[in-house]
Amino acid sequence: MDCIFCKIVAGELPSHKVYENERVLAFLDIHPVHPGHTLVIPKVHARNLLEIAAEDWAAVAEAARMLAIAVEKATDADGMNIMMNNRAHAGQVVDHAHVHVIPRFKGDGLRQWSPRSYKENEAAEIEAKIREAL
Ligand code: 5GP
Ligand code: ZN
Repeated sequence: MDCIFCKIVAGELPSHKVYENERVLAFLDIHPVHPGHTLVIPKVHARNLLEIAAEDWAAVAEAARMLAIAVEKATDADGMNIMMNNRAHAGQVVDHAHVHVIPRFKGDGLRQWSPRSYKENEAAEIEAKIREAL
């Protein structure tokens, strides 16, 4: 499989590794939003959150929590974004599941999305659909 993050796991491509355990690898994003921007991935290939094994996701989520604390401390950040793009139309470029751990700074001006308001009944309808889908 031609996956750059699998190649990083296998040591076939270089990376700045900051943490690893049996299931998880964390390394610096090559094009950081800010220095310290870290990617947390499962060692076993999974395309995204919708397809990852529950045990691997639990390990990735816990590593992301630990790294959020460590990256905040190391960069003296004012806040942290933990985010994940799933599938191309949600902005996913690398098809190996990864969580972004991004330090943020007062006044850095980055905006992620534009909130809107619900129309009449719209919230109740989507609430029912989500409950049904679970
Ligand atoms: P996505 O848009 O898929 O959520 O984010 C993919 C991220 O992977 C991007 O932020 C990009 O900078 C990072 N990236 C892409 N290729 C490489 C690479 O070869 N090495 C590292 N360390 N990061 C990469
Ligand atoms: Zn992969």
